[in-house]
Amino acid sequence: MKQFVVIGLGRFGSSVARTLCQKGFDVLAIDIDEERVQALADEVTHAVQADATDEEAMKSLGIRNFDIAIISIGTDIHSNILTTLLVKELGVKYVVVKAQTELHGKVLTKIGADKVVYPERDMGVRVANSLISSNVLDLIEVSPEYTIAEVTASPKLYGHTLSDLQFRTRFGVNVIAIKNGDKINVTPRATDEIKKGDILIVIGENENLERLRKY
Ligand code: ADP
Repeated sequence: MKQFVVIGLGRFGSSVARTLCQKGFDVLAIDIDEERVQALADEVTHAVQADATDEEAMKSLGIRNFDIAIISIGTDIHSNILTTLLVKELGVKYVVVKAQTELHGKVLTKIGADKVVYPERDMGVRVANSLISSNVLDLIEVSPEYTIAEVTASPKLYGHTLSDLQFRTRFGVNVIAIKNGDKINVTPRATDEIKKGDILIVIGENENLERLRKY
C-alpha cells in the first residue's frame, strides 16, 4: 500500500492528509508549527513537528521511504521551493506541490516536482463556471481544451435516444455516464433514452460543451 507524507498543514494540506487517512492510507503529516501538528494528530497515522527545509530532520524522519509527498507550504515560497528540492533529492518518486502563481509553478517543475497544483485557482474556475451556466453542476479540466462536465439534460432532449440525437456528431461530445437521482448508468448505449431529471456526464472540447450547455 502506498505511503504518503504531507508537509505543511494549512487548510489544503490538512484536508489532503485527513482524506487520505480516511481512505485507509498511512499518512505522515509534518508542520513546523506544533499547534497545527496537534490539531491534526488524532486524524492521521503520525503527525510530527519539524522544519521541512532541515535536511537532517527530514532524513531522520525517513522521508525517502515514502512513495508520494504532498508539499502544501503556502505563502512561504522560499520554504516551499527548498522543501521540494530536498524531498526530490532524498528520492521520493512522486512529489505534488501547491503553487501560488504560474511562475512559481514553472520553478517547481524545473526543480523536479512531478505535479503542480493550484487549488485556489482551480476551485475558482470551477465555481465560476458552475455559476455562469445554470445547467453545469461540476466539471473537471482534463487539459486546457478538454473538460469532463456534469450537465443537466435540457427538456429538448427528453424522450430521445442518444442515437436519435446523433449526440457525438451534433455536439461533438461523448456521454460517459447518465445519472438520475441515486442511479447511475456508466455504460450508456445509443438506444438509451434521456429522461426528465437526467444529468449527463460528458467529455469534450470546451467549445463543444458550450454548445451542449446552450442547447
Ligand atoms: P493554506 O493556504 O493551505 O492554509 P498555509 O500557507 O496557511 O496554507 O499553510 C502552510 C503551512 O505550512 C502552515 O501550517 C505552516 O506552518 C507550514 N510551514 C511553513 N513553513 C514550513 C516548513 N519549513 N516546514 C514545515 N512546515 C512549514
